[in-house]
Amino acid sequence: MNSLMLNTDGVQIPQLGFGVWQIPDGDAEQAVRIALQAGYRHVDTASAYGNEEGVGRAVRSAERPREKLFVTTKLWNADHGRAEQAFDESLARLGLDYVDLFLIHWPVPKQDKYVQAWKALEKIYRDGRAKAIGTSNFTVQALTRLMDETEITPSINQIELHPYLQQREMRAFHEANGILTEAWSPLGQGQGLLDDPALSVLSGKYGRTPAQIVIRWHLQLGNVVIPKSATPSRIRENIDVFDFILDTEDMAAIGAMNRGKRIGPDPDTFN
Ligand code: NAD
Repeated sequence: MNSLMLNTDGVQIPQLGFGVWQIPDGDAEQAVRIALQAGYRHVDTASAYGNEEGVGRAVRSAERPREKLFVTTKLWNADHGRAEQAFDESLARLGLDYVDLFLIHWPVPKQDKYVQAWKALEKIYRDGRAKAIGTSNFTVQALTRLMDETEITPSINQIELHPYLQQREMRAFHEANGILTEAWSPLGQGQGLLDDPALSVLSGKYGRTPAQIVIRWHLQLGNVVIPKSATPSRIRENIDVFDFILDTEDMAAIGAMNRGKRIGPDPDTFN
């Protein structure tokens, strides 16, 4: 599977990962185990998902050695002022001695503590307890402030991104600053987007499901992409995307689906 180089020396991230939001802790171990058996090597969790323990059990009992797997977790909003302790608590729940990527989950501008939190993440990174650090839901304004007031540029920014919300401005900003773009809700959370007639046409043309077409679009754009499913057949379907290529004209057809509409909260106001 393809990996992308982070701006952190030598650290690579598998471009396709497995998202586990809304998978209860009791089911997460089994879901992640199925994903790892299907070939995923990258899992995206967060302290707010309440399933770090289940994810950790699956990672620790995986056939592949720990260093061949990539685990992301995230700092919750209420913990910006106690990022190191919160990180230690996440590590303890995961049962791991490092994570590959630690993200600030949301900037929460009205709380105005993300610069302080980022300085703690810089320390965690320098201590080697997170191989890379990054942000999630950061705007151009929040990223600019971090780059102005701290030392390390985030390696990645995980944002809502799917064919109905293509985030061209953010992607260009990331590219100009050596920050990878990671797409959350990459399938637009399933219903609606995956029923779009434009995707049905491409599904027929390539003999692939709408979900596979959308995941392929993300990969060809250069996004890191973390589709979620708790259904074994879909978990396998979503990684079976490395043996076909969307034509330029079909990439453009998906490009034309942009509506600029969020499913999730606005990062400027979400707390
Ligand atoms: P998603 O876009 O991955 O959609 C998941 C849903 O799509 C599933 O619940 C299922 O209903 C459907 N689906 C999945 N595979 C399918 C298939 N092959 N065919 C038909 N339907 C299918 O949505 P998501 O879970 O919101 O996002 C993915 C991951 O992104 C999350 O699990 C989480 O790890 C991350 N995320 C991060 C943030 C953030 O603030 N950083 C926010 C939301 C999600």
